[in-house]
Amino acid sequence: TSKDHPLWQLIRTVPDFPKPGIDFYDITPLLRSHVDELIDALLDALPEGLMDEVDCLGAVEARGFVFASLLAGRLGKGMILLRKPGKLPPPVANKSYALEYGKDTLEMQNNLPPERVLLVDDILATGGTLNTAHTLCHSAEHTVVGVLVLLDLIDLHEPLPVPVYSVLQA
Ligand code: 5GP
Repeated sequence: TSKDHPLWQLIRTVPDFPKPGIDFYDITPLLRSHVDELIDALLDALPEGLMDEVDCLGAVEARGFVFASLLAGRLGKGMILLRKPGKLPPPVANKSYALEYGKDTLEMQNNLPPERVLLVDDILATGGTLNTAHTLCHSAEHTVVGVLVLLDLIDLHEPLPVPVYSVLQA
């Protein structure tokens, strides 16, 4: 199982954060000391040849920005940003969604040429964030090729409308 993966040793589980009853997976130790291994592992999680079909990475604020930036640098690809509302200049589209803990909104610019996008984030939990990112990309006429995450919490979400690629599963 993925529990044997060496990157698991670098993820800290924090009980009752940010709310009682939530187990928070802290991936910051991995960023502190194992960036190359992280990017190698993310790329290994993708099917052979998939990146040839991808024009750019769809980076989800905020840890998705870090992962996508590192991947973009390695691959020589660009990024489009999915941000918290009010950060990107217009024209933008936004969508609100329920989170595992609370409620959030994502916003993206919707005047970009259609591209084939791989969405990137650190963790897939309820799927609210990545489903919303997918909907926004779709509305802006991009094609979402799939989503790439470090950790997929498989029991917390229904299947996504696109393939999910992950290094670790719990
Ligand atoms: P979802 O929308 O799938 O419920 O939650 C995913 C979003 O919340 C991601 O952007 C992710 O960064 C954040 N998130 C949810 N649970 C955790 C967690 O346990 N650890 C970390 N680091 N982020 C989480």
